[in-house]
Amino acid sequence: MCVMKALVKTRPGPGLELLDVPTPAVGGGEVLVQVLRTGICGTDVHIRQWDAWAQRTVRTPLVVGHEIAGSVAEVGAGVDTVSVGDVVSIEGHIVCGRCRNCRAGSRQLCPNTVSVGVDRDGGFAEFVVVPATNVWRHGAGMDLDVAAIFDPFGNAVHSALSFPVLGEDVLVTGAGPIGIMAAAVVRHAGARHVVITDVSEYRLELARRMGVTLAVDPRTTELAQVVEDLAMTEGFDVGLEMSGAPEALHSMLEAMANGGQIALLGLPSGDSEQVAFDWVRIITAMLTIKGIYGREMFETWYAMSVLVNAGLDISPVITHRFNYTEFEEAFDTAARGSSGKVVLDWSEA
Ligand code: NAD
Ligand code: ZN
Repeated sequence: MCVMKALVKTRPGPGLELLDVPTPAVGGGEVLVQVLRTGICGTDVHIRQWDAWAQRTVRTPLVVGHEIAGSVAEVGAGVDTVSVGDVVSIEGHIVCGRCRNCRAGSRQLCPNTVSVGVDRDGGFAEFVVVPATNVWRHGAGMDLDVAAIFDPFGNAVHSALSFPVLGEDVLVTGAGPIGIMAAAVVRHAGARHVVITDVSEYRLELARRMGVTLAVDPRTTELAQVVEDLAMTEGFDVGLEMSGAPEALHSMLEAMANGGQIALLGLPSGDSEQVAFDWVRIITAMLTIKGIYGREMFETWYAMSVLVNAGLDISPVITHRFNYTEFEEAFDTAARGSSGKVVLDWSEA
């Protein structure tokens, strides 16, 4: 039996263990991917910490990790869309293919989605198996670190391209990796002013380096003042909520121009049914609010490749790189928040 290294949540409780586990076998319609880089997501940090969400959601044992770039090592029977050696990123949402939305071609709306690294074994490992339909092939010369963050980049692109932004004023709340990448995308797509907010000076500085009109701390700068200083006409046209902080959503609702459009991606950490918002404001300002989950399959992936090939450089959002054997330090770095994306290298021990 072949074995591989993997980061495993072996039993309920905090921590992850680097273990030798069986290399997964590839079945019909599937591919075996040799993992070369993985990104660490907030979800992975929650699973390692074993917070209330993880306790409710995760069944052990589980190989964690879903932000994956690698090279196709083996293809199963019937697979003719990818070949051994192809450099790929993985779409971590595995859909059923049979429900109404899947059959309509809107796979991101599948109600039966299974998540790699959460509901089934993931990619913090030397190898991972996924359906062939879940890999995205890259062209020659693709940067592997960037390929590893295509999953969160896809969240950013899906949100940022939800509404027309050409010439518009865009507010992004939350300068985490996804908010910063979304700001870069709307800028690339021709937005006029791009204002990003965060309560972390490290993250605001990272956003400034990636290129925004203004990066502000909402505790010291009023958005109404920003609207006035930048001579906007009545408020922001497009809002991208990427913090999950209820206060950020409140301030966004207030700062929008009438008829503004909002994409909501940030997930509140507590009981979301308890989050109150100004319902009347949404009605009387005639705001549009769109929930965003994952990436459109596979229009968002197509857009991501086009953007990267057109010169959009998201690599500055990657601030730390570690070998997988240094995973404890890597996870601590990701959990501390004075980091952008943290990437693990699996190509050598
Ligand atoms: P992150 O936690 O790294 O970034 C969130 C940022 O929001 C942090 O920098 C934090 O300092 C900032 N923040 C906190 N309070 C704020 C406030 N009041 N105003 C402005 N900013 C504030 O997360 P990320 O990886 O960039 O992801 C962004 C959000 O999207 C998270 O909530 C995450 O759970 C969620 N998410 C959703 C999906 C989806 O499919 N809907 C997928 C991935 C992540
Ligand atoms: Zn489905």
